[in-house]
This record gives sequence, structure tokens and C-alpha cells, in this order.
Amino acid sequence: MSISRKLRSVLRRRPPVSALPGLTGLSLRQRLQRAVAEILAVMEPDERLALLLIDLDRFKLVNDLCGPAKGDAVLDMVRQRLGGLKHARTLHLAGDEFACLLPFSDADETAVAFAQQVQSVIGEPIHMEQHVIYLTCSIGLVIDDGGSRTADQLLHAASIALSHAQQAGGDTFRHFAPEMFIDLGKRAELENDLRSSIMRGEIQPWYQPIVQLDSGRPKGFEALIRWHHPRQGVVGPDRFLPIAEEMGMDRDLLFLLMRQVCRDARNWPPHFTVSINMSPAQLCDPDNAVTLLQILFASGLTPGRLIVEITENALIHNLASAQETIRSLRNTGISVALDDFGTGYASLSRLCNLEIDQMKIDRTLIQSLDREAGRKLVKAVVDLGRSLSMPVTAEGIETDAQAQFLRGLDCAFGQGYLFGRPAPADTARKVAFGFSQ
Ligand code: C2E
Ligand code: CA
Ligand code: CA
Repeated sequence: MSISRKLRSVLRRRPPVSALPGLTGLSLRQRLQRAVAEILAVMEPDERLALLLIDLDRFKLVNDLCGPAKGDAVLDMVRQRLGGLKHARTLHLAGDEFACLLPFSDADETAVAFAQQVQSVIGEPIHMEQHVIYLTCSIGLVIDDGGSRTADQLLHAASIALSHAQQAGGDTFRHFAPEMFIDLGKRAELENDLRSSIMRGEIQPWYQPIVQLDSGRPKGFEALIRWHHPRQGVVGPDRFLPIAEEMGMDRDLLFLLMRQVCRDARNWPPHFTVSINMSPAQLCDPDNAVTLLQILFASGLTPGRLIVEITENALIHNLASAQETIRSLRNTGISVALDDFGTGYASLSRLCNLEIDQMKIDRTLIQSLDREAGRKLVKAVVDLGRSLSMPVTAEGIETDAQAQFLRGLDCAFGQGYLFGRPAPADTARKVAFGFSQ
């Protein structure tokens, strides 16, 4: 990698690794801005600067496991490793956050290769007395286009890319792209509007039919939450439920949805079931079951018509509380279904000990039906349900061939675009029963 002599001298001007204890009165951000501006000022036209913001994933666990003193020693080791990387200036920003500045004059791949190098030096095992620590990190990477961005803009872009890397689950890097600004703006808008959206009645359940596979007749609906945002249109749960959880609003949403579901279900045939989803966090709070039951009884809906879908994640994190919630629901006659079966870690022994009534096969397994191994796996799951006397619903059925195969296995229920997409209450009812009122 070739960089100009002037640049090299700037990189050398300060020690390659500078911890920033904030003693000089300059904020960390100012120190980083100054370092970026200093390099930008002496770069030749054919040179560019890559800025990497690095955040160690789940570093709190290291502190919890080894204590803060050893945690600091681990950070020091990371600092040294990053400082050993050639041609770059490394700054320890704060806690488990670092920045690397890499001037270079060849293709973008140089910066990408550097980010991978950062991941690999951080990933080398760290031996701390009796512990061996394996760290991973998230990296936001931005490359300056020949001085077109100010230091402040570069920093902003790198931190946006970093938050994308973190949202993707960590242990990865993200190269800044302008669309990320738009994503972030939209997310900020959702955050701002979420509280008032409830008052404005913008959050509603949509319904997707669940059918009896042998006859094709609908036997119930699954309620799937939607937000009718005034500017962003219909927003799906994956985009706003994590925000609601962070804001402590997911309980409010659960109860709001439950009230509406009970109201809607009164207009359906009396044998028709309705399924609602409970997130792991909601399931781990047994008080939620109490409120759900109050809403149910106030509505007059028969408990036997309600199915609560849960995923096994809650069972891993807080089995006792989850079991308490499940028990309260089932004691009143509500059914509990294990959702997304086949994606998690459910061991057979856990499944046998669980107090659940039904299973739903995840759609990724249904998508694998075009392969021999996938067909064997789905058959094994349907057989398992039968031997545990649990009705099985196959999710994400999109083709006749998939439905046909599942019918051949005697799988009881099916759900998927083949039978109907999620739709607002009125539309779903028209499709399922062929009448509107
Ligand atoms: P889920 O419970 O597994 O719901 C099924 C998801 O698969 C729905 O996505 C549905 O629209 C989609 N789907 C159904 N049939 C097909 C198909 O044939 N092909 C494909 N590709 N997809 C299909 P949706 O509505 O975006 O919901 C995503 C997830 O969000 C749900 O997965 C559920 O885990 C969660 N969710 C939805 N509503 C609620 C809610 O009210 N509360 C909570 N806690 N979670 C919810
Ligand atoms: Ca579900
Ligand atoms: Ca599912």
C-alpha cells in the first residue's frame, strides 16, 4: 500500500495508539475529529481515508465474567493489537470503542481487507488466567472520496454504518451507503411517532387464514400486527416491534391487539379460532397473562377459541416465568402453540416437558421441501407432533406441491400465501367466508 511521505509523517506525529482519557479538556469526538481533519489536510488528490469505528460486541459479559480490572487488561490488549496494524492510526475512544484511520491510495478493497484484519486481530483468543476470551466486534466503515466530506460528516457516516453492523447482530462490518441515512431517518420517525400512533388507532391486527389441509377450509386466523404509518404506509412487525420493546411499549401493544382481536373474533363463526403472538419478553412476565385474561373475559370470547403462539427463546432465557405464564393461560382453556419450530434449539426432551398444545413448522423448513433432506426433516417433525398428540400447522405454504406433500403426511393445518395473505379484518373475512357483513 503506497501513501505519501507527508501523510506518513502525520501518522507518525503522534504515537500510533493514543488512549484518550479526556485529560486535555477536548471531548473524545473532538480528538477524533481533529485526527481526521489533520490527515485530510495533507492527503494527495489520489489518496483517500478510511475511517473505521469499532465496538466490541457484548463486552459487558467480559467485565461480568472476569471483573472490571481484568476487563481493563483485555481492553489494553485490544488497544495494543490494533496499534500494531501497519499504516493506520488507532485511537481508543472510550470503554470498548476504538477508531482506526487508514489513508490509502489503491482500491476500496484495501479498506475492506483492513476491516477484516481488524476483525481477525480482535478475534484472536485472549488468555486471562483461567479464562480464554473470544471477542468479536462490530465495525462501521466509511471511505472519504478525496476530501469531499468534512471530518464531522465522516464520523457521522461511520457511526451510522456501525449501528447497522450492530443491528445485524454484531461480528461484522458495514460499509457506509447513503441509503443508510434514509433508513436511520425512517427509524427515528417511527420512534417519534410510536406513542401517538396508539392514540390515533394506527396499530391494528391483520389476519391470515389457517386452513384444514385436507379440505382447504379455514379453521381460524393468525393475528399479525401492522402499523398504518401516515407517511411510511403499512409497517410490519419486524420494523417496529424491536423499537416498541426498547421503549417499554410492547405490553401496551399486546393488550391493544388483544382487545381488537377479541372484538373482531365476535363477528366470526363460533368454531373459528384466533391466534396471537407473544414475544419472549411478554411471555416472561406472568402479569401479562393476568391482563390478557381480564381482556378475554370482558370480551366474552370463549377461551377455547384463543391460541397463544410462543417461541422457544423465552423458554431458554427464563423458563420458570415463561412456564408460569403458560400455565395461567392453559388453566383457563387457552391453547398454546410452539411457533417457528425447526429454527431454534428445541431439544426433544424440552419439547416433551413443555406444556404446549400445538406446533407450527417454520416456513424455512417448508421452503426446503424441494430437497430430499428437507422432505425427510418435515416428515420427522409431523410424525413427532403425531406421537405427542399435538396438531401441527405448516407455515409459509406457497405452492400446490408443498400443500400436496404435507397432505400426504397427514399434517393437520396449513398457513401461507397459497391460502391467503395477511389482510385487514374486513378483507380477511370476505376471503375466508365469502361474505362481508
Ligand atoms: P410469525 O409468527 O412466524 O408469522 C408469520 C409470518 O410469515 C408473517 O410475517 C406472515 O406475513 C409471513 N408469512 C405468512 N405466510 C407466508 C408465506 O407463504 N410466505 C412468506 N414468505 N411469508 C409468509 P409478519 O406479519 O411480517 O410477521 C413477522 C413476525 O413478527 C411474526 O412471525 C411474529 O413472530 C411477529 N409478530 C407479528 N405480529 C406480532 C404481534 O402482534 N406480537 C408479537 N409479539 N409478534 C408479532
Ligand atoms: Ca406466529
Ligand atoms: Ca411462525
